[in-house]
Amino acid sequence: MRGFNRMVIGYYKMKWAAQSGCVRKWRSLNERRKQIEAHESINARPTGVFLHQFSASGVLAAMVTNELTIIKPDDFHHHFRDGDALKSVVPLVASRFRRAIAMPNLKPPVTTTTQAVAYRERILAALPAGAIFTPLMTLYLTDRTTADEIYAARASGIVFAVKLYPAGATTNSDSGVTDMQAIRPALKAMAEVGIPLLVHSEVTDADVDVFHREAAFIVRILQPLVDENPDLKVVMEHITTSEGVDFVMACGSNVAATITPQHLMYNRNAIFQGGLQPHVYCLPVLKHERHRQALLGAIASGSSKFFLGTDSAPHPQTAKESTSGCAGCFSAFAGLELYAEVFESIGALDKFEAFTSKNGAAFYGLADNTEKLTLQRKAWRVPMTYPLGQDTVVVPLRAGQEMAWSVKQG
Ligand SMILES: [Zn+2]
Repeated sequence: MRGFNRMVIGYYKMKWAAQSGCVRKWRSLNERRKQIEAHESINARPTGVFLHQFSASGVLAAMVTNELTIIKPDDFHHHFRDGDALKSVVPLVASRFRRAIAMPNLKPPVTTTTQAVAYRERILAALPAGAIFTPLMTLYLTDRTTADEIYAARASGIVFAVKLYPAGATTNSDSGVTDMQAIRPALKAMAEVGIPLLVHSEVTDADVDVFHREAAFIVRILQPLVDENPDLKVVMEHITTSEGVDFVMACGSNVAATITPQHLMYNRNAIFQGGLQPHVYCLPVLKHERHRQALLGAIASGSSKFFLGTDSAPHPQTAKESTSGCAGCFSAFAGLELYAEVFESIGALDKFEAFTSKNGAAFYGLADNTEKLTLQRKAWRVPMTYPLGQDTVVVPLRAGQEMAWSVKQG
């Protein structure tokens, strides 16, 4: 009897709702709820877990590659830092990479070729005995960079790119560009002598949502810049969004992009998982899962427009674990191994060597390296900290967690 009553009441409720037009409203609300749930379940997928599925499965592990021998890779985005930190960072980079772009955001920034020559010497002095490694130096673009400085950079033979930081965009970027008109002569000279412009692609406008700053930069700055300088080589550094991928793909062969390991491994949930996680905080900040999927799609596509740039950026543990903690992830200790896990997780190891060792060199007009490097499937645990100079330590990405791949020594 109770069931019958519920049916009757339900019938009249429906009838009333239909008469008052509520059913349509309820249906559209219900559709919206389903959309939100679908959206959130994608975003809520635990980050990093899928990366271990292959190595955790004995059956699959038996079917997959256990050694990868590739042309020794290059890192096209690295923050070596300076002073006694170099002794900690340089050996880690040189054991995995034959060449690396040395970013110029020191204090004070490397704005002249003279400064770049001196910084290069300091990096080389920190190399272990017998190591073969070439730092590719860069200049820090300011409103005052002249065309003559660009010609001097090209003539030096040691400067390979110029970096554009919008003023205030990230660590030590206070001297960055404030006026796009002011850099026109420098950009023209760079296009003329074939020096690439490396771009930190985020607007710094406090009114723009932090997750939308890359997309806004493309529309406001990058597209006009590329249109005005059709012969200028441009690298969109550390892209993080589907808009970034689409922009690079839509441009001609003079526009390419680097992608970091953290933006391939994590979505923005990682920043908040189990409490605030300062060691995955970097700029541009990690994005929504759909953007991470777009980055994975980019590397899986095998397009030569995308290549390795770790953006490894060590900060002392105390500077990260503090009020106003610094932006930057430290990945130099496994700058290659992390990418290998990502490529394997999406079944794209056949695209790995081009991404790590060929695409970037070709874009910069450099020959492939002649040396080889072998990665082997050999698990190891990431230490909780690495030394950073004599008195400080840095907390690495994946601290305390297991890595699937190792660089084979000798
Ligand atoms: Zn960087």
